[in-house]
Amino acid sequence: MKLDVDVLRYLSKDDFRVLTAVEMGMRNHEIVPSELVDRIASLKHGGTYKVLKNLLKHKLLHHDSSKYDGFRLTYLGYDFLAIKTMVNRGVFAAVGRQIGVGKESDIFEVAHEDGTVMAMKLHRLGRVSFRAVKSKRDYLKHRRSFNWLYLSRLAALKEFAFMKALEEHGFPVPNAVDCNRHCVIMSLVQGYPLVQVKELQNPDIVFEKIIDLVVRLAEHGLIHCDFNEFNIMIDDDEKITMIDFPQMVSVSHHNARMYFDRDVECVFKFFKKRFNLSFKEQRDDVDGFEVDIDESGRPSFSSISKTAGFLDKELAASGFTSKDQDDIEMCIEGGIEKNIGSDNEETEDDGHVFELNETNTKGFDSLLLLEKEEPTSNYNEEQVKVNQQNPKA
Ligand code: ADP
Ligand code: MG
Repeated sequence: MKLDVDVLRYLSKDDFRVLTAVEMGMRNHEIVPSELVDRIASLKHGGTYKVLKNLLKHKLLHHDSSKYDGFRLTYLGYDFLAIKTMVNRGVFAAVGRQIGVGKESDIFEVAHEDGTVMAMKLHRLGRVSFRAVKSKRDYLKHRRSFNWLYLSRLAALKEFAFMKALEEHGFPVPNAVDCNRHCVIMSLVQGYPLVQVKELQNPDIVFEKIIDLVVRLAEHGLIHCDFNEFNIMIDDDEKITMIDFPQMVSVSHHNARMYFDRDVECVFKFFKKRFNLSFKEQRDDVDGFEVDIDESGRPSFSSISKTAGFLDKELAASGFTSKDQDDIEMCIEGGIEKNIGSDNEETEDDGHVFELNETNTKGFDSLLLLEKEEPTSNYNEEQVKVNQQNPKA
């Protein structure tokens, strides 16, 4: 299925209002009873049920009658809410081709009114669904309900906060433009993921730069945790850019050393295999490198962590709370176990996977005709607070 933004233009104010009401209801209902949607939306002229049918037809909602009759947002529905908000804010005005498919994200080109092309990352935590291990379920039991909506939003928030902080400290990352719901807008990185590169002019220099980056990150108090050839972009001048930050952790994390060593190992392995390089050979002729190297030629985590850290604390103070961090770690623990703690443990995917859309690869679908008004007011907020235990109430 494609991200058919054309549908967006045909949606009325009431459509968006009801879609938003379902989103609000999902704060404490996995499936939002239709009557509750109706009460939250409180449409001036009624007609919620007709609107729900229309939204269902466009696959923005999923109908579920297994426990009781109700609706929940699909990825597409959530995408549309985020896209509409971004368009309203003037962040971009058109959506173009899909440029990346991750296990837990879809990346599209978007264009600003002035023609600037950016990247839109839609987080999809919960696309890959696993049975949560027991400890995680215990953890989740004591928290408010977790669903893919909440987790994807958290992942986006974290990615945006980290990208911004890293950029401010001079790290080679995309420019963080904006964030809403599960959607992050960032500058478009020129070049390709390193994994696609078969040949480098200066593999040794690129290797040094990359190892240097892992070390410098750790010196700033952070570990990427998914630092590999898929998340390092490189352009024709062999300039590198690091992407993909939802799983980053602080050097004070209890598994920090393991994550750091694993990140380093990934780079070593890749460069050894593809370019027949290793750090030790390269290290000798580089001056001014202050980090200890262990017997195998790898930078030593303990020598770094002694002096490390302030960016991790800065981020902790930036609104991305330690509870948020705990929640997200439960689900993307260092990129190892990409577990999803959904309450009902079922996949949230609806079989809804975006495919590269051939007919859409050249142009952009303009959203300029989209009405800029978002129906954000006069919702019946009281109804949102209805307890999940009593969904019919
Ligand atoms: P995931 O978490 O799903 O791995 P990534 O952030 O790594 O998502 O993005 C997936 C792919 O999308 C990348 O490998 C890259 O090819 C492309 N991509 C992501 N962000 C950008 C960007 N800012 N500019 C250009 N391409 C990007
Ligand atoms: Mg990635």
